[in-house]
Amino acid sequence: LEAQIAQSQKMQAIGQLAGGIAHDFNNVLQAIIGFSDLLLQSHRPSDPAFRDIMNIKQSAQRAAGLVKQLLAFSRRQTLRPTVLNLNDVIADLSIMLDRLLGETVRLDVAYGRDLWPVLADQSQVEQVVINLAVNARDAMKGGGTLTIRTRNVPAGEVESDGADEVQVDAVLIEIEDVGTGMPQDMLDKIFEPFFTTKATGEGTGLGLSTVYGIVKQTGGTLSVKSEVGKGTTFRIYLPRTEVEQRPAAVSDGERAPAASG
Ligand code: ADP
Repeated sequence: LEAQIAQSQKMQAIGQLAGGIAHDFNNVLQAIIGFSDLLLQSHRPSDPAFRDIMNIKQSAQRAAGLVKQLLAFSRRQTLRPTVLNLNDVIADLSIMLDRLLGETVRLDVAYGRDLWPVLADQSQVEQVVINLAVNARDAMKGGGTLTIRTRNVPAGEVESDGADEVQVDAVLIEIEDVGTGMPQDMLDKIFEPFFTTKATGEGTGLGLSTVYGIVKQTGGTLSVKSEVGKGTTFRIYLPRTEVEQRPAAVSDGERAPAASG
């Protein structure tokens, strides 16, 4: 299970990087290939520079081939945003979370009432919750409780601790541990890819950068509060979506007058 999670974190992170960078990188390579072509046209094949230019072009073409593979890889992780109730997503995950947390860490879920729907890719939301739960568990080596709460947060509402204010109606997932906590200089770095304090093989440093990427991609926001020796709270806000309204059935008879004028 651990190895699967680490692997899936890696894949998710690579996919995200690949999708974002590969496209821009390909444009650069196409420019190199294009200008190499122009240079080839202005040089005779007998010219000593001709072979060098040819080499530049072929290298750029090889690189473009690699980029194409990378893009294909990132596209394989096709996102399927659907209208979700985050309570259902967490309820579906809870057995697997229990297993993940082991013997010493207890899971406590407080499901908010009448949650608004959100538009998100379910497996991405799962990935976010799992990554945060794994970190919480690792921060509570001596045991403790991992608390997950969900709640509707109307636009303009400010969290009780005064820190967050959402701009739009959002659904909050709060993930709280009573673990080691983190000092400010560490909090500044935790969302960077490959930042980890865990032993080699135990941490990839990709968990939180993946969380960050997914939340941004979903149009949400996130925040973290932490106190050394007390614990850490992550808050994920995903924007409320409207459940698609079925267009009221319109008969041809009704449409006709609009068409005629
Ligand atoms: P990884 O878990 O592989 O190290 P992450 O990006 O998920 O990578 O986390 C980066 C680092 O942030 C962790 O190594 C840990 O030091 C710190 N961290 C993350 N979550 C918590 C938490 N809930 N409590 C204490 N430290 C945390």
